[in-house]
Amino acid sequence: MSFVLHVDGERWRAGHDRFVAEHPGVVPVVKGNGYGFGRDLLCAEAGRLGVPMIAVGAYAEVPEALAAFGGDVLVMEPYRAPIHADLPDLGSRRVVHTITDRADLESLRGLARDARVLVEGLTSMNRYGAPISDVAQLAGDADAVGVTLHLPLGTGHVEEITRFIAAVPNERTWFLSHVSAAELATLSGRFPEHELRPRIGTALWYADKGSYEVRAHVLDVRPVAKGTRVGYRQRTVPAGHLVVVSGGTSHGVAMESPSSAATARSRAIAVTEGVLEAAHRVRSPFTVSGTMPRFAEPPHMQCSLLSLPVGVTPPRVGDEVPVRMRLTTTTADAVVVS
Ligand SMILES: *Cc1c(COP(=O)(O)O)cnc(C)c1O
Repeated sequence: MSFVLHVDGERWRAGHDRFVAEHPGVVPVVKGNGYGFGRDLLCAEAGRLGVPMIAVGAYAEVPEALAAFGGDVLVMEPYRAPIHADLPDLGSRRVVHTITDRADLESLRGLARDARVLVEGLTSMNRYGAPISDVAQLAGDADAVGVTLHLPLGTGHVEEITRFIAAVPNERTWFLSHVSAAELATLSGRFPEHELRPRIGTALWYADKGSYEVRAHVLDVRPVAKGTRVGYRQRTVPAGHLVVVSGGTSHGVAMESPSSAATARSRAIAVTEGVLEAAHRVRSPFTVSGTMPRFAEPPHMQCSLLSLPVGVTPPRVGDEVPVRMRLTTTTADAVVVS
């Protein structure tokens, strides 16, 4: 079986080069499944781009990042004494921690006196952070590398960020998440003495969407008469061809949230039936002979059964078919950079 993310290396990298040139100070975010490409590949790419710092999502990602990337590694989850106090690398000078309260700061500095920290402010995101009134004191006491803010998706953040910067006059370096280029430009105009560093994953790694594609192999093709029963659930299929392709739940096929379903109707079906159960009612993400056929039943762990209607030319065993996937929830069998 094979379900492979193919990357046109030269074109993919050129997209990153352009993006970094247009976003000075960007801190590439390397977390989770590495945006489908894998964290090691993104660490290597960040190294090639020559950025001084990357951001990881969690402490679990730190050891690999330190090995795969030569610069600083900012950890975006907050250091919490009850959870993280026994981890290795806490004292590495290349790790930058996120702190939201004094007890955690004292725990960390007790374990690693020289630990470098950022102080995160609690924004309208309401995820975690120190209240705006505490940030200046905490950052001062911590001799922080800077302050960090995580904003909700969308725009309209300029006033909120401005309030924070005004409340913490002594901190010159600000790490900002989910702030648009236009908002950054406005803020840079207001605060010319400050260094504003956007933390960006999605827009950077997917800068050139035409530079990569997931492709699956066709494993079997069989003509079927109307009413033929197939699969675990022995559902009937319409007349045409049954096409078996690699790619199933373990790769993230059909695990996407209902909000990513294409139409209001398919979203409604996904919500009422559960995403997987709805699979046979919605189009699959596989493109076969120019169409997006329906699943014959919910995807299996590593392959999927598709129902190709009469009149559509069937593919051949061994053909590759493109798959439209959200890469942050995709686990490919391999990532091939050519
Ligand atoms: C994931 C994350 C980012 C990067 O988000 P993208 O939408 O992928 O650019 C930035 N900041 C924080 C705090 C994050 O958790």
